[in-house]
Amino acid sequence: MARVAYVNGRYLTHRRAAVHIEDRGYQFGDGVYEVVTVLAGHMVDEAPHLDRLERSLASIEIALPMSRRALQLIGRELLRKNKVVNGLLYIQVTRGVAPRDHRFPENVRPALVMTTKHIDFAAQPKFEMGVRVIMIPDQRWARRDIKSIGLLPNCLGKQRAAEAGAYEAWQVDADGLVTEGTSSNAWIVTADGRLVTRPLGSEILHGVTRRAILAIAAGEGVAFEERPFSVDEAKHAAEAFVTSATSFVTPVVQIDDTPLGDGTPGPVSRRLLEWYRDYMVGGRNVD
Ligand code: PMP
Repeated sequence: MARVAYVNGRYLTHRRAAVHIEDRGYQFGDGVYEVVTVLAGHMVDEAPHLDRLERSLASIEIALPMSRRALQLIGRELLRKNKVVNGLLYIQVTRGVAPRDHRFPENVRPALVMTTKHIDFAAQPKFEMGVRVIMIPDQRWARRDIKSIGLLPNCLGKQRAAEAGAYEAWQVDADGLVTEGTSSNAWIVTADGRLVTRPLGSEILHGVTRRAILAIAAGEGVAFEERPFSVDEAKHAAEAFVTSATSFVTPVVQIDDTPLGDGTPGPVSRRLLEWYRDYMVGGRNVD
């Protein structure tokens, strides 16, 4: 069955799905996006993802291309057409199509594209085995809280990780403090079992999974601190993990060449992953 995409008002097979060469997303990276996980046929944390989409758009002065309800209906229809039970919904909004000029065009409609993907979340050894991360300098812009489609530094970092045989690269700021992964938030667990992750601000993306994990930790009585941590503290941590919509809670067992603990996923990370799986099924946003 051919995959179907939603492109500016039409449902098209991927072969036919295309945007104009003067789409400002293509020429300037002038747009934002969201990735929503679909599990057992339902979107996980749909509302906070749409909230973040609205915030990202407002930050760069692009209007929501249609009502939130209409966006939700198109997302559901696309998932239905593609028969996605487990996977993701990708939503991208750009400023639209206009003759190339850095200044914002007037009277241009934002361009909206949605795609879906099937993912078998069960058959992923990373959850059981854990992963390795490497440290790289953070070379991104100052507004990392905006989920911009301008992902060149993230792509360069992820490629460096792949070439090093690692799953993710943790980006490090000028003070030697970890900001976040190239497509995930970064966490460590201290020797006394406290979670540590960087506080919200413009230095990191406000992860929807991060938010859920903090709520779960609060509910389960797991202590946490929202503060920056250094590369050195991370390498001496009891445990570490990354969170994102599609990585859930992925344990980190090695940072650069330093194994964490006994080199296998730690108990806190494992428990959080179980709780998060329960949360995704039980706390899903169903209308
Ligand atoms: N940071 C960055 C840079 C990301 O790209 C992502 C994934 N979108 C995250 C963090 C995690 O965010 P979320 O939990 O909302 O997927």
